[in-house]
Amino acid sequence: MPENMELSEFKPGTKVAFIGSECYPFIKTGGLGDVMYALPRALAPMGCEVRVFLPCYRCIPEKYRSQMKHRGSFMMDLTQDGRSFFVGIMELELDGLIYDFIENREFFDWGNPYTGLWEDIPKYCYFSKACLAALNYLQWVPDVVHCHDWQAALVPVYLRTRFDGTPVGNARSVLTIHNLRFQGICTIDHLKYWTGLPDFLFDYAVFKVNDREANMFKGGLAYADRVTTVSETYAEEIQTDFYGEGLNGHLSYHREKLHGIVNGIDIDIWNSRTDRLLTAVYGEENVLAAKAVNKKALQERLGLTVDEGKFVVGLISRLTDQKGLDLINAIFEQMINDEIQVVILGTGDPRYENAFRYYESVYPGQVCAYIKYDESLAHQIYAGSDALLVPSLFEPCGLTQLIAMRYGTVPIVRETGGLKDTVAPYNEHTGEGNGFTFDQYRADLLLKTVRYAQQVYTEDRDSWNRMVVRDMEKDVSWGLSAKLYLRLYEELKG
Ligand code: ADP
Repeated sequence: MPENMELSEFKPGTKVAFIGSECYPFIKTGGLGDVMYALPRALAPMGCEVRVFLPCYRCIPEKYRSQMKHRGSFMMDLTQDGRSFFVGIMELELDGLIYDFIENREFFDWGNPYTGLWEDIPKYCYFSKACLAALNYLQWVPDVVHCHDWQAALVPVYLRTRFDGTPVGNARSVLTIHNLRFQGICTIDHLKYWTGLPDFLFDYAVFKVNDREANMFKGGLAYADRVTTVSETYAEEIQTDFYGEGLNGHLSYHREKLHGIVNGIDIDIWNSRTDRLLTAVYGEENVLAAKAVNKKALQERLGLTVDEGKFVVGLISRLTDQKGLDLINAIFEQMINDEIQVVILGTGDPRYENAFRYYESVYPGQVCAYIKYDESLAHQIYAGSDALLVPSLFEPCGLTQLIAMRYGTVPIVRETGGLKDTVAPYNEHTGEGNGFTFDQYRADLLLKTVRYAQQVYTEDRDSWNRMVVRDMEKDVSWGLSAKLYLRLYEELKG
C-alpha cells in the first residue's frame, strides 16, 4: 500500500454520493454505520464533495428528524406492474455534510431498519432506485455513486439500465462489501416484481442463483465499475469456498475490479483524551494510571469484584456465530478458573444471549453480561478492560480491535480478514506487535492465546505496558484509506 500519497495529488471537486442503509448517529447496528459516518468526514477535507443518502426510518431520533428540511417530493414507478410510490427528500446538514433521507412511510415506518428479508427486499429495491431518482431531481450529478452492502447493491444495476441516458447515468459506481454473509436473496419472481427490471438481468451472470432464486448482491457486483471490500485479506478470502458465501466463483470472475481497502475509525469520536464518557481521560503519557481508574469504575458499575490485579477481558459485539462466540463459550469455564473477569456487551442470537446471562448468574462478581446496545458502556469497556476478545470465524475488517488499540486495550484476535491486517502478533523476542493472535478456528488455540496474554499481563508487565502504548500510537485513522478511496474515485472519473 502506498504510504506517501500527498493530498496535492488529488484534484478538488470530485462529487460522490454515498448510498447505504445505516449511518451513525442517525441509525447504526454495526460497523457499516460507523463507516458511513466516518469516511465522508475524512473525504470532505480532501476536497471531495460528498452527500450521504439514507432511508428516513421512523426510529431516527427526533432531535435529528426535527432538523430535517423538505427538499421536494415526486412519484416514482417501481414494480413490474407499474405501481408508483411516493419519494420524499428530507435534508439535514450536520457538521458541514449533507444527508438526504429518502422518505416513504410504507417502507420506512417500521421499528427497526431490518425487519426480515421478505419486507427488506422491497424496501431496498425502492431505496436504491429512489436514491438515483432523487439525484436527478436534485440536479446533483455525482462523479461516483458509492454503494454499500446488499441493501444498495441494485444501484449499479439501475444506473446502467433504467437510468441510462439520464443525468445520473453518467456517474460511475463503486460497491463496497462490508459483509458478504448478507446478500438479499429471494425468489426470482419477488425480485422481478419489486425491481421492475427486465428479464435479461435474471440470468446467471447477474441476479440468478438457481432456477428459483435471485441475489441482489450478485447483480450489483456484476454491474459495479469497481468492487471494494474492507480489508485486503478479506478481498482474497471471499474468493475461496470457505469465506465466499456462495459468491466466490462470481467474485473470482470479477477479481480485476475487486480491491481491499481497510477501514479506519473516527478518531474524534474515539479519542481517549477527550472522551466525556470516561471516568479518567488519558493519552499515551498517563495511560497506565488512567486505565486503572477506568478499570475500577467499570468494575464498580458492572458489579464485578473491584480488584486492579484481575485480568479484565471485554467483548463488544453483535452476538452471532460470525464473531467466534462458540469458541468463547467453549473456553468460558477455563477463563473463570483462571480468575479472568469477563465483560460482555452485545445483543443478538438468543442462544448466545442466554449462555452469557447464565455465566453471569453463576459467576457473579466475575462475569457481566450486558445484553443491550449501549454506546456509552462500550466506551467505558474499551477504556477499562485490559484486553478485548475478537476471535471471529470471519471478519471483513472489524472495528472493535481498532477502537481497543486506540484506547490502549490489547486485542486478542483470530488471524482472519481485517483482524489479520490490523493486529500484528506480539513477538516476545523482538518486543514488537499489537496484540495476541491465533490462526485456525479452534477453541484450544483461543484458550492458549488468552492464557499467553494473561501470562504476559501478570508476569511481564513492562512488556505488556509497552504494547499498550504502542497500540495507542498506532495509526487507526481514516487518513490513508480515505486517500485510497479518493484515488479510486479519480481513476473512475477519468
Ligand atoms: P460488525 O459490523 O460486524 O457488527 P464491527 O467490529 O465492524 O462489527 O463494528 C461493530 C461496531 O458496533 C463497533 O463500533 C462496536 O463498538 C459497536 N457495537 C457492537 N455491539 C455493540 C453494543 N452492544 N453496544 C454498543 N456498541 C456496539
